[in-house]
Amino acid sequence: MAELYRPSLEDAEAICRQAGARLTRLRRQVMALLLAADGPVTAYELLDQLRAERSATPAGVYRSLDFLLAHGLAHRLDSRKAFVACAHPDHPHVSQFLICRRCGTAVEVEDDRISSVVGEWSRKLGFEVEAESLEVSGSCSSCRTGRAASEASSQP
Ligand SMILES: [Zn+2]
Ligand SMILES: [Zn+2]
Repeated sequence: MAELYRPSLEDAEAICRQAGARLTRLRRQVMALLLAADGPVTAYELLDQLRAERSATPAGVYRSLDFLLAHGLAHRLDSRKAFVACAHPDHPHVSQFLICRRCGTAVEVEDDRISSVVGEWSRKLGFEVEAESLEVSGSCSSCRTGRAASEASSQP
């Protein structure tokens, strides 16, 4: 699989500065954990990793996550009740993910065509969109290749 671009903590800080917001210590730590994670992380996993931090109360972690979501630095995956760092936080966009059910990786895709089709249908039906996100579940290419290999080796 192609190496994905990952924004840095410095990118996140610059985005906050531009928005006139501040990446406080806890927000920064939560962001760093999301950036370092292999896949989506739940609030409880974050809390667990931040146990040494006094300010890391459940409410504090949720507030930090809300802040990161509001500034487009992270996305919430409703289907997994988990959070991921945004792959391209420099511009606003709809959350679109392909999520592997086997290894849990969530790859962010960005295709304006999906949103424009949603927009067309909403207009046609007089529907007012309040939140839009796409979460597609399935098997990623490495899990599929791994599975193909193990299936082949199990043949008599
Ligand atoms: Zn994103
Ligand atoms: Zn996978």
